[in-house]
Amino acid sequence: MEPWYGNLQNYYKQKLASGLKRLIIDYEPPVFNVCFCERCRKVFAERFSLPVDECLSLPPKELQAKYREQWGQFRAWQNGQIVKLHCAIIHAIDPEVNVGLCSWRGTEASARSGADIRLFEPEAAFHAPMIYTFGLSYHDAVQETCARTTAPVLPFIELADISQPRSLTPDELRMNLLSTGLSGGGGAYMWVGMECFDAQYLGKIRQAVGEIATMREAVPWSRDAVDWLEVQAAANVTRSITVDGEEIPIYSAYPEPFVRHHIWGADDGAVVALLNYDAEKPYTMRVKLITDREGAFEVTPLFPATQPAKTFTSAELRDGVTVRIPPEGLAAVAVRSAN
Ligand SMILES: [Zn+2]
Repeated sequence: MEPWYGNLQNYYKQKLASGLKRLIIDYEPPVFNVCFCERCRKVFAERFSLPVDECLSLPPKELQAKYREQWGQFRAWQNGQIVKLHCAIIHAIDPEVNVGLCSWRGTEASARSGADIRLFEPEAAFHAPMIYTFGLSYHDAVQETCARTTAPVLPFIELADISQPRSLTPDELRMNLLSTGLSGGGGAYMWVGMECFDAQYLGKIRQAVGEIATMREAVPWSRDAVDWLEVQAAANVTRSITVDGEEIPIYSAYPEPFVRHHIWGADDGAVVALLNYDAEKPYTMRVKLITDREGAFEVTPLFPATQPAKTFTSAELRDGVTVRIPPEGLAAVAVRSAN
């Protein structure tokens, strides 16, 4: 371990001497190109009970191709041991330092390849997964990541075009921040390029943070599932046909693939927030009471806040409250028990 261990200890001692209480470690297992030394190959064979001779002799590319999944898991594990050692050294110097992990996304798919961010709990005080995408793909990754961990999630968002085919638009940034907050995320780290200091981006950051604050003030965000409300596609009359001179409406009530919803709260009140990822088309959904509980409910439109609060009977709420979500936008209502 020496002199490596001592050098690392000194490195962190110097860094933490300033009173630093929060830092981020990069956890990116180098799955593809290292390390094929004899010692690593032996440990690899042992770990997955593979033929030792073969693991020692196969050329690197063939070894990786033959045991693709195991190799990924092995690299992630070995890299993870290094991360855990760093955390231990840091906490031995100062137990109060919050170590965050800049990592892969915390999805089931990442976990299957060996890079499960939950392996670093409790060492990691928070997760900062690199979710360098936007739209539905960002939404679904951040939602799954937040759902699979109890540690705070503050994703890295790439604003510049360094890791993406193009830079995010201001509206895409707002949607990323909204989906992070609605999933329970605790914030975000943004990689910025020169183009991102534009006032439009700053305006959208301010807007998204304000919207999240309004929704969380209406009903504090909570992880507990709400089982008495549900969101369904409204039966939209898309067109009508004429049969024997009579006009017959044709309804469309399929699940909307561009819409995602989040519901949180408790028995006495909940917020239902809906995100529309279609940049061109508004969608209409219905928020419905799905249990047989009785009483009155006050429904307050939060976004868009064009209507005053209105009281519904349980029968009316079972029929549903119509919510219209603007293109590439947000809609939200607060539903509170009014008994
Ligand atoms: Zn090695």
